[in-house]
Amino acid sequence: MNAALASLLPVAPRPAAEERLSSWLSRVAGIYDMSANALLAHFGLAGVSALALEQGLSARQGALIAARAGLSARTIDNMTFAALAPHARFVIAPSARYFCPSCAKTPAIGRRDAALPWTFWCSVHGVRLWARDKRPMESFLPESVLERLDPIARRGAARLAAWAEDHDPMGETGAPTVPDLLRFLTTSYRRPSPPSLSEQPRLSLEARRTAHAFLTRPIARQALLVAVPEYDRFAPVLAKPVRSGLAALAGGSLLQNYALAVGVARLTQNPVEQAAAALAAADAEGETNLRRVLNIWPSATRRRIDVELRCLTKAKAAGEAPRRRQLQRSSTNYARVPEISARFVP
Ligand SMILES: [Zn+2]
Repeated sequence: MNAALASLLPVAPRPAAEERLSSWLSRVAGIYDMSANALLAHFGLAGVSALALEQGLSARQGALIAARAGLSARTIDNMTFAALAPHARFVIAPSARYFCPSCAKTPAIGRRDAALPWTFWCSVHGVRLWARDKRPMESFLPESVLERLDPIARRGAARLAAWAEDHDPMGETGAPTVPDLLRFLTTSYRRPSPPSLSEQPRLSLEARRTAHAFLTRPIARQALLVAVPEYDRFAPVLAKPVRSGLAALAGGSLLQNYALAVGVARLTQNPVEQAAAALAAADAEGETNLRRVLNIWPSATRRRIDVELRCLTKAKAAGEAPRRRQLQRSSTNYARVPEISARFVP
């Protein structure tokens, strides 16, 4: 037996579809009742973790593993995240971010795409992924809303993936980059405020007393809520705030990242209209925050945003004035209408 054959593992399973290197190494190690680290040491790669290896494998490291497992260096490389640019590697999760009911049948196999925040459909089974706590998306957003948002979320996910692979043509044309858009979406457009009436669950008087801390807790109000009003309407109020900028993606839940993808797609398509809408909805503090973020956008885009904002503000003023006059002309004394006074008139 020659030296090359002697160093071959007697059994090394072929990688499953889309399997990531850390998962495959754990499976191989499991066969020999070893840890993945011990297996790597056996390969001559002591002191390197599987998670670090799959982020950036040198040709020498790839060749070592390939030779021991009897696979091609290309097969080993295909299990890594080499396509991701270094600036995007921080989003790679050590295990699946969300839950695929079909993948759950083979829990030992971890897939590459499942580690990325913008994967909303399983790359192997094609099914919509569920949240990590095994709640399907339909439990957050009605199916009719999902049907409308899915194509937009796919466009946003595609732009996020392009940015991660350093192939984002938009950012190169001087338009706002993906990090610029995420910074905008995660900026507060209003001061934090407690859950509004429409955000509160229906509670008895007794329950309201117990839930006092929840009902008075200030919630961050980020521009994401203006860009994706569907998220604002259906997301649980305490789960609405996301982290700031790119960290939002890395730390976001399935619903939050889906909303961020929709927001990125809408801002990509209509940056001027979307930014102006957030400014129009902002309070003074929020406007200052948003303008600080917009400062790094191209100046021509900023000028168009201001023109659009003036149009929106004018339309709002014109739309409100007749209503106000109508109210003044009305002879109804709302305080005397019991159904109304009980709810709105102090
Ligand atoms: Zn799957």
